[in-house]
Amino acid sequence: MEKVFNFYAGPATLPQAVLEEAQQELLNFNNLGLSVLEISHRAKEFEAIIHEAEASVKELLQLNDDYRVLFLQGGASTQFSMIPTNFLNSGNVANYVITGVFAEKAYKEAKLFGETHVAASTKEGNFTSIPSQDEIKVSENAAYVHITTNNTIYGTQFKYTPDFGAIPLAGDLSSDIFSKPIEANNYALIYAGAQKNLGPAGATLVVIRKDMLEKVPKNLPSMLRYDLMAENDSLYNTPPGFSIYVINLVLRWLKNLGGLTAMAKHNEEKAALIYDAIDNSGGFYKGHAQREARSLMNVTFTLASSELDKPFLAESEQHKLVGLKGHRSVGGMRASIYNAMPKEGCQALADFMKEFARKNG
Ligand SMILES: *Cc1c(COP(=O)(O)O)cnc(C)c1O
Repeated sequence: MEKVFNFYAGPATLPQAVLEEAQQELLNFNNLGLSVLEISHRAKEFEAIIHEAEASVKELLQLNDDYRVLFLQGGASTQFSMIPTNFLNSGNVANYVITGVFAEKAYKEAKLFGETHVAASTKEGNFTSIPSQDEIKVSENAAYVHITTNNTIYGTQFKYTPDFGAIPLAGDLSSDIFSKPIEANNYALIYAGAQKNLGPAGATLVVIRKDMLEKVPKNLPSMLRYDLMAENDSLYNTPPGFSIYVINLVLRWLKNLGGLTAMAKHNEEKAALIYDAIDNSGGFYKGHAQREARSLMNVTFTLASSELDKPFLAESEQHKLVGLKGHRSVGGMRASIYNAMPKEGCQALADFMKEFARKNG
């Protein structure tokens, strides 16, 4: 079978080694004579998987003992409403930093539950930038400040982890978790849907500081209570076992490659190949994000004319480069190059871009 490079934004490419391991174990996990798809979440073999995954998350993010690691359901989008239902009340204000489509969705969910404040927004510039810490103006009585560290659709990324002292920081890290070292201990809550940088869709990783669990109102629906999920070690009800199993394999793969420092270097080299192809195209390609805000995970760009979009997509597919169509709010192309995208994929795309510009420029 010929290798195809998968640039889709999510569900996204997974490490080849992990796919092969999952395939090998699919019919007979740990010599149990059972598939991992069939194991009860109450079996000790599954508990071993989820505990190993939790420990790997703590190790990779260098979290101290004040944190719990949870695997929940409903995607990152359920976190948009779960955070305000748990932490926004009649005496406080939910603060949002609006840097893209998902950030805006999170903000809109919070508005359903209480008072909100836009602490910063880059909407006026069509989401090409990321605010500096000084540009984020937090309100009085802030319940928390919510940020989106990587804007999957616009292709911008925070290069720093904000710090608001005693005010809890909540981060949607769905599209850049584990792509580089971060100041994880600045956060009160981190969440990420699995299907970009972690594994197959189904599980949502949540890292929550223990003091936050004490703030949860007891009259919420059970499935929306962080404290109940933590008390039950993410096994309050049947978890998405296969997604968690693959996440565990991906985390092992990450640690074997040298962890987040090694991954950051790898991701910088990969992204540079494509950004260089944009910058050296004599204006044929135009990057959407401002340079200092450029994402290492989602590279967004437009072509000299939108009439070239169709031929670009058709020819790139012939070159075994798939999933490059940009989101309609930006147009043009988006190359999603998460952790699992090999450097050869980025090189192949950069080579194709140069050749396409030469022929059509
Ligand atoms: C994909 C994405 C989401 C939505 O995730 P779901 O799991 O589909 O709910 C939210 N935030 C960011 C930053 C994303 O990239």
